[in-house]
Amino acid sequence: VAKESGKNRYHLFDTAQDDAVKVQLESLEAIRGALDNQQFVLYYQPKVNMKTGTVTGVEALIRWQHPERGLLNPIEFLPAIENSPMNIEMGEWVIDTALKQIGKWQAMGLIFPDCTSVNISAVQLQQPNFTNRLMALLAAHPDVEPRYLELEVLETSALDDVHNVSKIMDNCIALGVKFALDDFGTGYSSLTYLRRLPANLIKIDQSFVRDMLHDADDLAIVEGVIALARSFKRNVIAEGVETIEHGTTLLQLGCELAQGYGIARPMPASDIPAWISEWKPDANW
Ligand code: C2E
Ligand code: MG
Ligand code: MG
Ligand code: MG
Repeated sequence: VAKESGKNRYHLFDTAQDDAVKVQLESLEAIRGALDNQQFVLYYQPKVNMKTGTVTGVEALIRWQHPERGLLNPIEFLPAIENSPMNIEMGEWVIDTALKQIGKWQAMGLIFPDCTSVNISAVQLQQPNFTNRLMALLAAHPDVEPRYLELEVLETSALDDVHNVSKIMDNCIALGVKFALDDFGTGYSSLTYLRRLPANLIKIDQSFVRDMLHDADDLAIVEGVIALARSFKRNVIAEGVETIEHGTTLLQLGCELAQGYGIARPMPASDIPAWISEWKPDANW
């Protein structure tokens, strides 16, 4: 459908714009092929508690195992399908694959109390039947308890339409899943809005974490988000923890949960058990 409407639009544009549309059409076709040929894969990045030294959860991050170009990051293909029906299809594949993986880990005795999380696009979340689709996906994995699945929604997309989004979130929470607000701090949430969004985790955007060590404004934002989370009784995690200095500063500020290259890079699901048994938190923090 998208391809057809794309082709129709194609004829309306002038020559300069034609090229851009062609490029996008090609990549849409390539993505279609990749979906059909199972070239997408989920990598998982650990989330840890720096104070207690436990691995609390993992975040699923999509990759394209491209036959010629190697492993591609989402920035190279997600924007192309933002307004395509493939967005929904890929989103469902992500949830399904993550649920399958939770079940596999569970069978090995590996349970993440603070969830395996998946990223949900704004388009996916706001499709009229999202809750029903999620219910069907959960029903297809009866061995997995919904409370072990967390949906990450960008703060900016939640703010798009707080009224609608908070209702969708409530309906999904009734199914047992949890929510996190991703890239928090980039969307200028007011206190009022945060109060209406039933997410139990706030993820401090990595840009603030990365720069807080040398930029007082970014440090103030990190402190502010931590205080906000505490006031509203939400959990808070810092993204983009790359160094020991980041970790120790966050611990001083009262943020115990962290995720970042300094702890672990995203990795294939099969590497997660070995990583967990080798991780020595005390040596790092
Ligand atoms: P995000 O959800 O905020 O995920 C964090 C991104 O930061 C990931 O990039 C991760 O690999 C990267 N990262 C983690 N720790 C560090 C660090 O210490 N330093 C730096 N510089 N980067 C770090 P990735 O995997 O390329 O994903 C980028 C974005 O693409 C994600 O941001 C998310 O918004 C989106 N995305 C990824 N997977 C999916 C998916 O399955 N569905 C949807 N809708 N979006 C996805
Ligand atoms: Mg995320
Ligand atoms: Mg993020
Ligand atoms: Mg991001």
